[in-house]
Amino acid sequence: MDTEEKKPTEGFVKSFTRLEKHFLRPYRWTFTLALGGLLGQSALMLPIPLLQGWMVDRLVNFMGHKDSLPESARTELSRGLLLALVVMIVCHLLRAVLSWWVSDTTGRVSQEVVVALRTALHSKLMRLPMAYFDTQQTGRLMARVTSDVGSILSFVNSGLLQLINDLILAFGIAFVLVTLDWRLALVALVVVPLYAVNQNLFSAKIHKLSLGIRAQISAIYALLSERVSAVRVVRSFAREDAELASLDARIDEHRRLSWQNTKVNSYLGVLATMISGLGTVIVLALGAWFVGQGSLTVGGLLAFYSLVGQLYGPIVRLTQFQATAQATSISIERLFEVFGEPEPVSDRADALPIQRPRGGIEFRDVRFGYLPEGPDILNGIDLEIEPGTMLGVLGPSGAGKSTLLALAARIYDVAEGQGAVLFDGEDVRDLKSDDLRRAVALVPQQALLFEGTIRSNLAYAVANATDAMLWKALELADLARTVRAMPQGLDTPVGERGQSLSGGQRQRMALARALVANPMVLLLDDCTSALDAETESRIQDALVEHLPGRTRVVVSHKAASIRRADQIIVLDQGGIIERGTHDELLELGGHYADNFLAQTEALTV
Ligand code: ADP
Ligand code: MG
Repeated sequence: MDTEEKKPTEGFVKSFTRLEKHFLRPYRWTFTLALGGLLGQSALMLPIPLLQGWMVDRLVNFMGHKDSLPESARTELSRGLLLALVVMIVCHLLRAVLSWWVSDTTGRVSQEVVVALRTALHSKLMRLPMAYFDTQQTGRLMARVTSDVGSILSFVNSGLLQLINDLILAFGIAFVLVTLDWRLALVALVVVPLYAVNQNLFSAKIHKLSLGIRAQISAIYALLSERVSAVRVVRSFAREDAELASLDARIDEHRRLSWQNTKVNSYLGVLATMISGLGTVIVLALGAWFVGQGSLTVGGLLAFYSLVGQLYGPIVRLTQFQATAQATSISIERLFEVFGEPEPVSDRADALPIQRPRGGIEFRDVRFGYLPEGPDILNGIDLEIEPGTMLGVLGPSGAGKSTLLALAARIYDVAEGQGAVLFDGEDVRDLKSDDLRRAVALVPQQALLFEGTIRSNLAYAVANATDAMLWKALELADLARTVRAMPQGLDTPVGERGQSLSGGQRQRMALARALVANPMVLLLDDCTSALDAETESRIQDALVEHLPGRTRVVVSHKAASIRRADQIIVLDQGGIIERGTHDELLELGGHYADNFLAQTEALTV
């Protein structure tokens, strides 16, 4: 992370400017008002010690001349004291109202800022190319969405305005102190640099610790999210203990660092309190001497003394601000790192709409690898799929079948100069991606269902789908009978990974979801593998009958499932090693024939 190298404050100003420009600007005036409120609140604090001092001086004066004073002076004094008390009460009340208003306002605005941040982050993640997720752990991304956004929230909510307020307040009080008694002010302010020295002694250590703590939190998130999503695997191999041990180690390390951090922070706090204690004691001692000398009144000393107490508060907070600023700027930087990711799979300015999709797909000498420096997963694929026909794809696992489909659906982009994937004769990179998504549906190998109901899962891509459309899709996917038999029908809840459904039912749900959108091209990635041969062929027949003219690409590891395809290819190590119709490939006697014969033999034995 390059933010570690920079000077903290410099980094902070830069990242804060970025945050301001993109997310805080609409709330400028609200923030200014809130700051005004906060300053008013602080300003209302100043008259109180001054009035107290004034009252004490009046009283001392009165006590001194008690007997020689006329009755009128007595009433005048009580009137003055009463007035001072009323003013003080009003100050307190106003402060309470302002403080309520300020925290209400900043609370509301910061929630809005966080919503904006989360929404922006979410839609950015949705726009990022798949390749980004291949290189990022989901846990780290979760940490960004939760802890980074959280620390920005608390900063916007209180840290930011408090900082400005503290700065102004510290200068304001210092000014009043100097006007009250410049000699005492000098003494009181002399200890201020001590704070800075104290802070500097600890800041490097604190910075290092807080970076370490954040790294541990990220790692814990990463570990947890990985383990939670793999909980079935973990349990089925009885690995819970080992998994817990590795998590425990992380949590231990996090606790150790947090504890150290707390300790360092409390040393810092203790020293800061000692410094301010020292300051007030010196002020008191010197002040008492001045009072004895007659160059300062008792009330003046009292006012001065309580103002000095109020001066040290903001100064301690200001010195601690550095740590907050560092943490916040790291969070901001990490978020903007995500915002700054390039989005290669996004529309060109002159992207072409797809008016009437026909469903032709062509691969022209396509080479593709997932990593820029990595191996080619597909090496020079030439393939033409006529609209409305079926292509069968057979091949061992790792051959590149899923990759082929991902390119056809433009989940990944082919790099410049590495060939092209065409839809109806146009390079898919030149087409409007929304149109392409509507025209081409991919049913992945792993059926992924979302938390919700059968209805919400089916209508995922088509928000305004009618029940009739959903039932038709279920019918085609051979699932209508099953769903009808469920007491809650379409409203039956399904888990995050559809755990309440069987593997075959999940696959058919995923297929039905794709069918609801009624696409021109269906890419089926071995998505009926959990079904028996009979159901599989029933589905395939239903597709041909009820969705005439749709292009289908069917990946399977069973030759029998794709025997009726118009064209069949065998993929191995990223290349097409056989192609033809079922009869031609049987004749050829290669992999396809072997696979087909092995299965039919298995059936007849
Ligand atoms: P198939 O579907 O034929 O089993 P895939 O297309 O899924 O094969 O994978 C082909 C090769 O690409 C495999 O070696 C696999 O490890 C690699 N691969 C697949 N997905 C990714 C990815 N997201 N990042 C890096 N390599 C990948
Ligand atoms: Mg695959």
